[in-house]
Amino acid sequence: HIGSQKVDRKVDSVCPFCGVGCLITYNVRDEKIISVEGRDGPANHGRLCVKGRFGFDYAHHPDRLTMPLIRKPGVPKEVRPYGVDWRDTFREATWDEALDLAAGTLKGLRDTHGPKALAGFGSAKGSNEEAYLFQKLVRTGFGSNNVDHCTRLCHASSVAALLEGVGSGAVSNPVNDVEHAELIFLIGSNPTANHPVAATWMKNAAKRGARIVLADPRVTDIGRHAWRTLQFKADTDVAMLNALIHTVIDEGLVDEAFVRDRTTDFEALKANVMGCSPEAMAPVCGIPAETLREVARAFAQAKASMILWGMGVSQHVHGTDNARCLIALCAVTGQIGKPGSGLHPLRGQNNVQGASDAGLIPMMFPNYQRVDNAGAHAWFEGFWGTKLDDAPGYTVVEIMHKALAEGSDPHKVRGMYIMGENPAMSDPDLNHARHALASLSHLVVQDIFLTETAWLADVVLPASAWPEKTGTASNTDRMVQMGRRALNPPGDARPDLWVIQQIAARMGLAWDYEGEESGVAAVYDEMRQAMRASIEGITWDRLERESSVTYPCLSEDDPGQPIVFTEQFPTPTGRLKLVPASVIPGAEQPDDAYPLVLITGRQLEHWHTGSMTRRSAVLDALEPLATASVHGDELARLGGGAGGRWWRCVRAVGRCRCACAATMARRAVRCSCPLPMSRRLPIC
Ligand code: SF4
Repeated sequence: HIGSQKVDRKVDSVCPFCGVGCLITYNVRDEKIISVEGRDGPANHGRLCVKGRFGFDYAHHPDRLTMPLIRKPGVPKEVRPYGVDWRDTFREATWDEALDLAAGTLKGLRDTHGPKALAGFGSAKGSNEEAYLFQKLVRTGFGSNNVDHCTRLCHASSVAALLEGVGSGAVSNPVNDVEHAELIFLIGSNPTANHPVAATWMKNAAKRGARIVLADPRVTDIGRHAWRTLQFKADTDVAMLNALIHTVIDEGLVDEAFVRDRTTDFEALKANVMGCSPEAMAPVCGIPAETLREVARAFAQAKASMILWGMGVSQHVHGTDNARCLIALCAVTGQIGKPGSGLHPLRGQNNVQGASDAGLIPMMFPNYQRVDNAGAHAWFEGFWGTKLDDAPGYTVVEIMHKALAEGSDPHKVRGMYIMGENPAMSDPDLNHARHALASLSHLVVQDIFLTETAWLADVVLPASAWPEKTGTASNTDRMVQMGRRALNPPGDARPDLWVIQQIAARMGLAWDYEGEESGVAAVYDEMRQAMRASIEGITWDRLERESSVTYPCLSEDDPGQPIVFTEQFPTPTGRLKLVPASVIPGAEQPDDAYPLVLITGRQLEHWHTGSMTRRSAVLDALEPLATASVHGDELARLGGGAGGRWWRCVRAVGRCRCACAATMARRAVRCSCPLPMSRRLPIC
């Protein structure tokens, strides 16, 4: 019983939202999840945030796709507002009809225009097994490396810097290692909204005396617990970080033994930051020189200092440089390779770490083995028994551009298979992305809802939600964790792993993954063989028993290594490579036409494009609106004031949240619903 509620069964799984990877138990009654409890997992110790605890009923939402859909002939490809009846655009189909059309057309495009005419977006919301099989389908069935996912717009720049500097794209220490830190340097991250349970470890650390330094143009909630806040000017990260490195070198705070024995290229770094004194950089970044010096001293002199960062670091034209500076700051102070120290790029999605590990990126096979490395290429050709392309594929960004290329362009992308991603809502340039997707000759979308992207599809395949399948996901701490099926998919929706295999079979691939739930254990075992260097010791049986194991884990009796780089770095020299970064301006500067700098963020109750959380009753009730924070001076300049409300529409495409289904035009209108304004979209 949960309180007074009777439960039919309890199923252990992992939260499907953020990269913290909290372990949960679903309480199921009458084939519905009625509540969620936190389990004593290594990342959460029973804690859950509001999304993990209350964001489960999206799986039962009436909007769920329950039948394959095929676009009706002649219907224009456009994203339709909520409330428009999908039957005007699509018709229901059988699985055989939909799969034959989906795979047959992709195959025809490949055979007519060549392998590069096709591309696939996998998902960081799916399991490791789905990611592995999806990239294998693209590489062996489509015939190119045109496979990517949202990591491209997330931590790809951090990973580039980490691979270059330390030889591994993953974190050096788990989040809750902050309990051993004396100083926590948090930059470009709002953890109370984005990684809420991770934020609780940071707050606990502050309570026991650790110093939090929050570096962010916006002082967020965690700032209440900070020892110092560096509210630097947007886009001046490198200037500020170079000033910290300069101070460490200038004031003799370098860990000489660490730099001598475990790094390379120190002299180049030193020469680069020579002109970046705090006094010189203070006018650039807006932080007083003495504050920069004070923070640099505290970071270097603490017994253990740890750096955690988020999208505020990576989503810049100089995102890789930002991460290079963080690596250098850690290295020159010797703050890596021991408890409470190191580098932690906080992964966003629940499985963005695992999807990248599994090879869902255009230049890497599983386990970050480059497709253009002759040895890796030959190994995978032998392993998969087929010829493979040895040229890196197009990225998410390039695929969108290639979809809009001229018809005569031999590199034009003409067909796509998108599984569980929603670029028509998440892409930074929505008009461009929607135009690109609508321009494709053939688009297959596999999802649980008719997302903005699915509205542009030729074939829509109804998939399974996270509680409806068994599979593993890898969290931000490098823990491979087991999610278990608690429910059956609704109607005729099917597990994603089954759908991928059906597409593969129709494209001529002879795969044979036998076993329960579309052979998920067999797929995992094959993936483990391809990723021996990191997960060889994490067998399926072990995950069934232990639920969560950290990699690298090289044998079945290896407990896994939460802290890495204790002896050496996985680089060709075994040492960390210091890479200098120059101060360069952001790609766009405010001007008279575009006077504001906008910084994106997230709401605690919602997740990415909202396709799940906007359909979770509690979450949507708690936070029904998107918000923008504007400085009071700016608001006054625009003619507004505290407490005022603006009803001018920004992009009025939507439906009122009441049942009236009033569709908004592209201008401010009012519907006649009885709800208070706070319950409606701001365009009402
Ligand atoms: Fe889920 Fe992340 Fe919240 Fe944990 S912190 S319950 S993983 S959303």
